[in-house]
Amino acid sequence: MPLKPKTNYQDIKKMMNVRYAVSNADPFYSSTPWQRLRKVKLQQSALCEDCLLQNRYEPAVHVHHVVPRDVDRSKELMMNNLKSLCHSCHSRIHGDRVPERRA
Ligand SMILES: [Zn+2]
Ligand SMILES: [Zn+2]
Repeated sequence: MPLKPKTNYQDIKKMMNVRYAVSNADPFYSSTPWQRLRKVKLQQSALCEDCLLQNRYEPAVHVHHVVPRDVDRSKELMMNNLKSLCHSCHSRIHGDRVPERRA
């Protein structure tokens, strides 16, 4: 059986994802203030806050805006408007509407 070019395919996929993220992302998410705040938030709350409420321990991978940015832009850099979430909780909150939105 011939070896499948698995690594190449993965690399191409990764490159496409990066390009997608760069061309479609809101510049806010690559801004230094957000990157810095996001890092601090994940350091303070390294576990998913919603899972914790149910005594589950999931590493947080998303920093979610409790009040969405399109509702109140002035809260976008407020620590108390942020929530650390795992991927499944974050997807559940956003539903299918905005699957690629990072926060
Ligand atoms: Zn969770
Ligand atoms: Zn979110």
